[in-house]
Amino acid sequence: MALLRRYGPQRWWPGRSAYEIAVGAILTQHTAWTNAALAIAALRSRRLLDPTRLAAVSVDELAPIIRSAGTYRLKARRVHDFTVWLLERFGGRWERLRREPLASLRRELLDVPGLGPETVDAILLYAAGRPVFVADAYARRVLARHRFIGPRAGYEETRAFVEAHLPSDPALFNEFHALLVAVGKSHCRTAPRCEACPVRVDLRGRRPAT
Ligand code: SF4
Repeated sequence: MALLRRYGPQRWWPGRSAYEIAVGAILTQHTAWTNAALAIAALRSRRLLDPTRLAAVSVDELAPIIRSAGTYRLKARRVHDFTVWLLERFGGRWERLRREPLASLRRELLDVPGLGPETVDAILLYAAGRPVFVADAYARRVLARHRFIGPRAGYEETRAFVEAHLPSDPALFNEFHALLVAVGKSHCRTAPRCEACPVRVDLRGRRPAT
């Protein structure tokens, strides 16, 4: 609650369609969102934020369009591979994807080349609205410092912990993750700035680990 009071609703993820959100999740790998957003805008201006139209473009043609996202040849391949998978498996229709059993769908997505757990879970949560927690580095850092998880807890352990301890609600996971990112960027940095951190208010008595 303290995070919500301080930062307000985060309204993640920016995107006009599920497909655009999924492409954004791939483009923002290892780069700031502002760079990915430029690549999204370039795709939009060419009317390529549509799976059928994008799949018709070669990886070589796609790469320079998304240059601003960094490692653009690799990301062009990843966006293309994901798009082909989406078309072959679901005809590009998200309503069909949303009806799939979650565990097997997640495994399938993890088999798409270039998609790791964080990207897959961002697609599942933010594009597909499925109840999966994105246990990224910001989330792990805050949760570990408050000893909800061990200092060496990895991605899957953290994801399982949160999913086991919160209601299985995509809106809740969405907001919680976005707020953890907000506090991670503003206060819970490599060197924590606890003094003015809103989390400190909610966790009186649970001393953060340093
Ligand atoms: S109180 Fe300190 S350790 Fe806890 S989230 Fe804030 S900055 Fe991080």
